[in-house]
Amino acid sequence: MNQPFLPFARPVIDEDTIAAVGDVLRSGWITSGPKVALFEQQLSAWCGGRPVRTFNSGTCTMEIALRIAGIGPGDEVITTPISWVATANVILEVGATPVFADIDPVTRNLDLDAVEAAITPRTRAIIPVYLSGLPVDMNRLYALAARHDLRVIEDAAQALGSTWRGRHIGAFGDLVSFSFQANKNVTSTEGGCLVVNNAAEATLAEKYRLQGVTRSGLDGLDVDVLGGKFNMTDVAAAVGIGQFAHIERITARRKALARLYFSLFGGDFSVTTGAQLPVADFENSNWHMFQLVLPERMPRAVFMAQMLERQIGIGYHYPAIHLLTMYRARGFTDGMFPVAERVGRQIVSLPMFTTMTDADVARAVDAVKTVLAA
Ligand SMILES: *Cc1c(COP(=O)(O)O)cnc(C)c1O
Repeated sequence: MNQPFLPFARPVIDEDTIAAVGDVLRSGWITSGPKVALFEQQLSAWCGGRPVRTFNSGTCTMEIALRIAGIGPGDEVITTPISWVATANVILEVGATPVFADIDPVTRNLDLDAVEAAITPRTRAIIPVYLSGLPVDMNRLYALAARHDLRVIEDAAQALGSTWRGRHIGAFGDLVSFSFQANKNVTSTEGGCLVVNNAAEATLAEKYRLQGVTRSGLDGLDVDVLGGKFNMTDVAAAVGIGQFAHIERITARRKALARLYFSLFGGDFSVTTGAQLPVADFENSNWHMFQLVLPERMPRAVFMAQMLERQIGIGYHYPAIHLLTMYRARGFTDGMFPVAERVGRQIVSLPMFTTMTDADVARAVDAVKTVLAA
């Protein structure tokens, strides 16, 4: 028990990036400037040349995406109960109505049949979430959206580096939102970016992130939409650029760690313990997290405490959103989305970060097996 603490996530910032941040701080221009422009160019190239704009969080990125799509009071937006609460909060933030659909027990992402069943004449958009970086069936998603004339606002917060049939998430589709929060595969300390469809949406994104302002000439300034203060700083962009340079290596290392988890758990792990492994997808997922769903006999808090005794940090992503007080007050209650409720109670995130060693994975797997065998 004398082992060092193994956290479930840890940002890894290299010395070049730290030096680049110092350069920005010494440059005389520390808010949005050349670094933001460069980061946006690089992200756009990654997304097949589609326009990309950055913001100061993934949350405000989602909110701005909803505003760009013209979604507001009277509109319904369908999303998953198993996400960070931001995904649903932004729907309320723009005055629209969140509608939840249950998840698929295997992928833990939205069940697209349940989405289709939840569509009403007031439905305007779907917000899918790619939990752990595993996309939903993108062909089915966009076929469904086209059939019902819905916008798609992809909460791809966890999916930078994920692909669908060989194409990067973000390189196709409708509005695609990423997060650069500290624990994401690529971080800018805090931040986010939105992939949009055209120049008009990009202009709108720029207005919403900075008080609705349009500048012209040397001293021209006008405001024609209500924007907020959501711009990314050059300090943050310098961190993002430094991280993004390593995205292929980051994704490859995470895939390798995930493969190691699977091989060390072994083929009979689920049968002997009742715990459910993630989908073994080495094609599309960027392996943002490695998540188990514990058997019902093992309360999650007990599991977490016993892992902590072994100096291993465990995350829980996420409790079902519809059961949080603010959502219960809007009429949501137990039993509405049974799969999401079980997963929300029993899901745990095992350690996963690029500087983890293979021995760290072995230690985590041994601890999980010991705790579940007790
Ligand atoms: C991280 C995350 C967000 C929020 O992003 P922030 O940058 O923390 O605002 C939203 N949705 C999902 C699925 C996330 O993982």
